Amino acid sequence: MSDYRKMWADLGLDLESHDALLSVLGGAYGDIYLAQKNRPEGMKYFDFVMSEVHGLRIKELMDAKAQGRKVIGSYCVFVPEELILAVDGVSVGLCAGAEFNFAGAEEVLPRNTCALIKSAFGFKLGKVCPYLEASDVVVGENTCDGKKKSYEILKPLVKDLYVMDLPQMKSDMGRALLKEEYRRFLGKLEAVSGRKVTAASLKKGIEIVNAKRRAVKRLAALRAADPAPISGLDALLVNQVFFYDDPLRFTDAVNKLCDELDERIKQGAGVFPAGTTRLIVSGCPMAVPNWKLPMLIEGSDAVIVGEESCVGERGARRITAAQGDTVEELLDEITERYFQIDCAIFTPNPTRAAYVEEMAKNLHAQGVVHYSLQFCQPYIVESGPVEKGWEAAGLPTLRLETDYSQEDAGQLKTRIEAFVERLKGK
Ligand code: SF4
Ligand code: SF4
Repeated sequence: MSDYRKMWADLGLDLESHDALLSVLGGAYGDIYLAQKNRPEGMKYFDFVMSEVHGLRIKELMDAKAQGRKVIGSYCVFVPEELILAVDGVSVGLCAGAEFNFAGAEEVLPRNTCALIKSAFGFKLGKVCPYLEASDVVVGENTCDGKKKSYEILKPLVKDLYVMDLPQMKSDMGRALLKEEYRRFLGKLEAVSGRKVTAASLKKGIEIVNAKRRAVKRLAALRAADPAPISGLDALLVNQVFFYDDPLRFTDAVNKLCDELDERIKQGAGVFPAGTTRLIVSGCPMAVPNWKLPMLIEGSDAVIVGEESCVGERGARRITAAQGDTVEELLDEITERYFQIDCAIFTPNPTRAAYVEEMAKNLHAQGVVHYSLQFCQPYIVESGPVEKGWEAAGLPTLRLETDYSQEDAGQLKTRIEAFVERLKGK
């Protein structure tokens, strides 16, 4: 631990605030995760990752940097990890799931900014995120207006902020813009790493990320079983660790977990009794340690069997075709893959709602909880029409808007319990 303190101090963290954050995080993890019953043995790996999330993993990042590799931090699933791996870089998701130093964030941002953006600023201004401090480049993206404008404020606060433009419509021009932006990003990665991307290095990057995605897709499919072999909380954790861990080790750990779940399913074993009400959560991403809603749902006699979210199926379900013999051809395949992501920043965005219906069918879910962060215009605006569509398709929907505080937990629980009762009565 003393090694870590020196490492944290060298990274410029505020050790006192960081201690306070780790203590809250550790306590919440114990109360929410370790208190669950019938967890698969394979979750021990993820418990270990979480216990070392600011320790061993950061040490690995520092070792990689010492070997000349670059750490690239990002806030969105539109930033292709394949490209980062192609220059032997390390990709890390930047944490934005805790209500930390919102007072500091509100000094530079409007109060009515979503919790995800406020959290990113709270961590930066409070100097508590070793991932952010270890990043050689921080990648922002023009997705929602909140993020887009806040990067102007973030720029002077970080070493090297690189902003990627993104299309807002699924048109030919939109696809061409995305490809050009990925080409420009490749140039940036080559410049910071001093490495030239080749078809072989890009193909290798694609294969590593595809293997990771295939593993989480396998996990997602196993959740169709009744009783559910894994809780929604644990599955969410796996999807969250997706953004931090070494990709090869992560893939291996998820596949081992899936082998165990295969056995559980054969034996008819699960985390909740067979027949427990099954729900899908759809909406804004839940970054570590945002576990509030799944905890409330799974404490209300229901189990989450799928997440239509960027930390979940929206972020991972599509595989990049590793076809092509040139960087140009592979870049086309990468663009094609990412262009299909159905984030609510696109207009219109019909495939997202349609996919939730497909998920509900495949996973035998009885209802959907639509989750929006307060002040998140894209998902809140989209939530009305999607609710209408799902209800019309016979898929009961509960629309919730919340933030990272615990203040509304009681009220949310009451609404979730009433929704679960409605589903039981059907
Ligand atoms: S919800 Fe949209 S903006 Fe947010 S991470 Fe996903 S793709 Fe990016
Ligand atoms: S939750 Fe909504 S408002 Fe917040 S960053 Fe994501 S898309 Fe933007």
